[in-house]
Amino acid sequence: MQIQKVYKYKLCPNATQKGIFRRWLGACRFVYNLCLEHRICHWQSAGNNLTEYSQNRELTLAKKEPGFEWLSEPHSQVLQDVVRRVRLSFDNFFRGAGFPQWASKHSWHSFRFPQAHNGSIRIEGNRLKLPKIGWVKFYCHRPCEGRIKQVTIKKQAQAYFACILVEQCHEPIPASESQAVGIDLGIARLATLSTGEWYANPELFQRFGPEVKRLQRKLSRQEYQSNGWKKTKRRLSQLYAKIKRCRRDYLHKASTAIVRRYSAIVVENLQLRNMSRSARGTVSQPGKGVRRKSGLNRSLRDVGLGQFLDMLEYKCRWHGRSFKRVDPRYTSQKCSSCGHTCPENRLTQSEFRCVDCGQAGHADVNASKNIRDLGRISGSQYEQSPRALPVSA
Ligand SMILES: [Zn+2]
Repeated sequence: MQIQKVYKYKLCPNATQKGIFRRWLGACRFVYNLCLEHRICHWQSAGNNLTEYSQNRELTLAKKEPGFEWLSEPHSQVLQDVVRRVRLSFDNFFRGAGFPQWASKHSWHSFRFPQAHNGSIRIEGNRLKLPKIGWVKFYCHRPCEGRIKQVTIKKQAQAYFACILVEQCHEPIPASESQAVGIDLGIARLATLSTGEWYANPELFQRFGPEVKRLQRKLSRQEYQSNGWKKTKRRLSQLYAKIKRCRRDYLHKASTAIVRRYSAIVVENLQLRNMSRSARGTVSQPGKGVRRKSGLNRSLRDVGLGQFLDMLEYKCRWHGRSFKRVDPRYTSQKCSSCGHTCPENRLTQSEFRCVDCGQAGHADVNASKNIRDLGRISGSQYEQSPRALPVSA
């Protein structure tokens, strides 16, 4: 089976290459804002939309204008990709998303080589060849397998990364256990399986929290925009980036372990947006339990449940497993052995005891059994959900 996968490597560019990256990012940002402005002006005067094609033509002309020669420095396809991004953000806007935002130094962090044809981008050892930039060294923490399709250069917390999209042949691994497994997701336990095993919350805030707090306190005492303030700010963003990497790593390991073992996986269809919506409410109708809910919001982000489900989903597809999301209503109150459903079954957050048949156990295990059974009832065919986009290694 052919699959697409993204490898992400940390680059170690030299001073010249860092300068190139910085200038290219600036040029991309400029082109984005220029295209956005043109689209707005054109809409106001002509009442219709500029096309990507005509904007690309304008871009070619703009490069010849006196004073804009620097626009010729970045690779032409890199800038054309920016024009595409403008078009996509307008497409999203017409589908109901917000109006495209101006690109600022703080919001614009990446550029992309959309085509890697006939070896214009290639890897040799720990060096990556980029068109018009040349060989850039990177930390090769794992071999990059497959045919390179496109490369995105990203700046994150003062460091540059290359996200390499490849197409590769994938050999599905046969499942070691043929049974279906239900997974209950939560804050205290990241994932509880219907077999009784469970994965803990990565507890990153417990691990990094003191350091985050220390830096935040330091930052608040420093003079805004002073050199010391900027330094602390940089260290804080580096720490956040590290937390994010640790979380991803943990989720990847847990999801791979689950997908390798079971042939069918049933999960609850989490309404993450509702769960993490701010409880603050409005001025006239203040929300209840604001402090508690914002703590919950933080731990939700901390565990990254949505990301975990996405990983399970695409890994299931890679390995030919069936994957199903089911409606989790009443799964925490229903007895998995007799089906009696009432809130009294749930003694505490973690304890379950059926008032009808007396079955007792961990509440999350009971819920995951219900989830597994729901998946059986509604058939165990893999369902393609519209959220099955991110593919990453
Ligand atoms: Zn019961």
